[in-house]
Amino acid sequence: MAQPYSYRRRPLVEPDWRRLPGWRDVTQTQWASAQWQRAHCVKNVRQLREVMGDLLSEVFYADLERDQAQRATMSMLLPPQMLNTMVPATDSPMPAAGTAYTRAFMADPVRRYMLPAFSDRRTDWPSHPHATRDSLHEHDMWAAEGLTHRYPTKVLAELLSTCPQYCGHCTRMDLVGNSTPQVTKLKFDLKPVDRYAAMLAYLQATPQVRDVVVSGGDVANMPWKNLEGFLIRLLEIDTIRDVRLATKALMGLPQHWLAEDVVEGMGRVAATARSRGVNLAIHTHVNAAQSVTPLVAEAAKAMLGAGVGAIRNQGVLMRGVNDSPEALLDLCFALQDEAMITPYYFYMCDMIPFSEHWRMSLAEAQHLQHAIMGYLPGFATPRIVCDVPFVGKRWVHQVDEYDREHGMSYWRKNYRTSIEGADTEALSRDYVYYDPIFTLPESGQAWWRSQGDAAAAHDAAVASAAASRAASRREASLV
Ligand code: SF4
Repeated sequence: MAQPYSYRRRPLVEPDWRRLPGWRDVTQTQWASAQWQRAHCVKNVRQLREVMGDLLSEVFYADLERDQAQRATMSMLLPPQMLNTMVPATDSPMPAAGTAYTRAFMADPVRRYMLPAFSDRRTDWPSHPHATRDSLHEHDMWAAEGLTHRYPTKVLAELLSTCPQYCGHCTRMDLVGNSTPQVTKLKFDLKPVDRYAAMLAYLQATPQVRDVVVSGGDVANMPWKNLEGFLIRLLEIDTIRDVRLATKALMGLPQHWLAEDVVEGMGRVAATARSRGVNLAIHTHVNAAQSVTPLVAEAAKAMLGAGVGAIRNQGVLMRGVNDSPEALLDLCFALQDEAMITPYYFYMCDMIPFSEHWRMSLAEAQHLQHAIMGYLPGFATPRIVCDVPFVGKRWVHQVDEYDREHGMSYWRKNYRTSIEGADTEALSRDYVYYDPIFTLPESGQAWWRSQGDAAAAHDAAVASAAASRAASRREASLV
């Protein structure tokens, strides 16, 4: 029977890295080494040119260079493993060097978000007027440095501010990675050892928190013995029942998670978690089916073999990357069928600067959610979620009201974040999320054009909200 999506099982393939001029002589042993991968990451246009040679035309290198100078919110950092999945040429002949290859490279979904070029971005509205650096206000909700307490029973612990790979759309662009010409990154003030101690002290003193997302950055960049030391101390806190380790490197640098010391160390952590009845999981971040290679599946299985209870994927929904039911379902089946990674969430891309070309409207996200229902097992059918500022994750169909003309959706919440203890309106207020302006009908676009300096108005609103929150905190401390 014909169906809108036709399922077929596809074996995973590791693209041959020796097809790329700079890696012609790289051996299997080198490729499998996490150390070799880290030492050969591509960090700038010169290094990309050394790998790709004349496969790519000069126009592309100039386009990339311009983006790095004028738009990029993340610096370039690509492990060979990830670069090798661009234009993988696994089921079609490799395009000819020059124009044909460059065209294929430009159209590649992994390239589109890991190596953004200036010509990818919109010129009408490169940023939404209400886009902000820390669009989820995680920093505002730090209970200790790097520990975001946004939901009643769970926290996010940002242990470090680096990753083995930097994604162009990173929602933590405020803090994560090296500064770019456009963005000077925040720095942690405290020494890591003091920060971790402060986080653990807060968790010890706050028994209503039962779930910790141990993140960054990416925990794969933390020396294993430091990460293990933190996790063992975390597992000593009786009230912690769920620990989730966040690492995109399971896909971007699977060699790290296959290293002997890491697998053994994870075995020790998982055994401790099991003996204390704590659920230990890994959450990864894969956005395109071609990123799921045999090495990624091997790393996932090594972690499950070491005793991790579950591995789940939290992808990001992006235009040009995974914006069709086919792209989403192909990815979900590659994860679920071949790598034992459960498709879990797709987040709508957050409202950070220069992300408009990736962002999709709520209506588009709702359409995609509808289109992917019914193909995967229910437990592996990902929810597409909108992370609404000051609210948190909401399924895209949970919207309260939706003004499609102006691209404004209104959301409610059922709990207070850690900064709203004395805010009596927090649970009755509407919180707004904005569609990309170029997706609106002409009347809506004209309305936005007529708003003048909407960004300044937004800044004023945010400042007054911050002042009222500070006042309520002051009042609370006087009671
Ligand atoms: S791995 Fe995660 S934290 Fe690191 S750059 Fe990518 S999205 Fe940001």
